[in-house]
Amino acid sequence: MKIILTGDRPTGKLHVGHYVGSLKERVRLQNSGEFDEIYIMIADAQALTDNAEHPEKVRNNIIEVALDYLACGIDPEKATIFIQSMVPALTELTTYYMNLVTVSRVQRNPTVKAEIQMRNFEASIPVGFFCYPISQASDITAFRATDVPVGEDQLPMLEQCKEIVHKFNSVYGETLTEPNIILPKNAACLRLPGIDGKAKMSKSLGNCIYLSDSAEDVQKKVMSMFTDPNHLRVQDPGKVEGNPVFTYLDAFCTDEQFAEFLPEYKCLDELKEHYQRGGLGDVKIKKFLNKVLQAELAPIRERRAMWESRIPDVYDILKSGSEVARAKANETLADVRRAMKINYFE
Ligand code: ATP
Ligand code: MG
Repeated sequence: MKIILTGDRPTGKLHVGHYVGSLKERVRLQNSGEFDEIYIMIADAQALTDNAEHPEKVRNNIIEVALDYLACGIDPEKATIFIQSMVPALTELTTYYMNLVTVSRVQRNPTVKAEIQMRNFEASIPVGFFCYPISQASDITAFRATDVPVGEDQLPMLEQCKEIVHKFNSVYGETLTEPNIILPKNAACLRLPGIDGKAKMSKSLGNCIYLSDSAEDVQKKVMSMFTDPNHLRVQDPGKVEGNPVFTYLDAFCTDEQFAEFLPEYKCLDELKEHYQRGGLGDVKIKKFLNKVLQAELAPIRERRAMWESRIPDVYDILKSGSEVARAKANETLADVRRAMKINYFE
């Protein structure tokens, strides 16, 4: 069996970083026909670990994330879209896995470390937030996922999940399935920077181009993007490394788009060379990037508008998806209870 599990926190609308880091790959894998089951989870319980006082934010973003999925081409006929908290078995699994992980092991998780710092949680980490890597291991193993397509920041989570699988199987006998991480092949997509040039485009940093942004907003954001701060005049040589306009072009543009939108250049390497040599202005590359992004985002925007007129249907998709997910996770939970010898009435 080949099974995918992946998901997103309903803490905001999804942005082009999610798209190149994970969503686009999910749609490709979904349509490859190579997978027996695909589960896509809206991680509301995880979002509440650092938004406990903002339940309305989490609630309102469930539908936004679901709309973004459908807009990108996730097909509810092929993939099960569900809401994490509607699958209580996940919480029970977490309780059992917690006994197999030490506090110092979670403390060493580099993504948790970075996120604690980013949220100023140093002195007051909610216990639930601290444990979210363990709860993520429950999500992955409950569905017997073999493959998890995610961005680079999830690598430490997958490592921790594999350790839990090994530990569980060695203590209680072969029960859980070990997952593989699927990272984007294109290095620019591993961690797309923000339009401000900060290391990661993130809902929490307000430096995003959202999949649901209007064409005008996308254009405005692209034209305001951070570039090479020392590239002051057109004739100056410019830097390509760490210049987010070029990183986005690395992530999005194809040779065919040069033929269509910027025929003076054959490919991105030629454009980069000219920029580095001097004589190429930021406005010109930004206009090109805008065309490239608009071409990718226009069909997504159209499909989103279609689904926005069918909100009750979207909730039906989430409801039936959650029922399918609950049945699957309950099967794994029964196996886990049997392995742990707590299946008293069987
Ligand atoms: P939050 O700030 O609430 O954590 P987020 O923007 O980090 O939100 P998540 O829901 O945590 O989004 O991440 C969902 C998925 O998108 C994960 O697989 C993550 O690796 C990927 N992802 C998030 N941001 C980026 C990015 N800038 N580049 C590539 N992948 C990303
Ligand atoms: Mg995140």
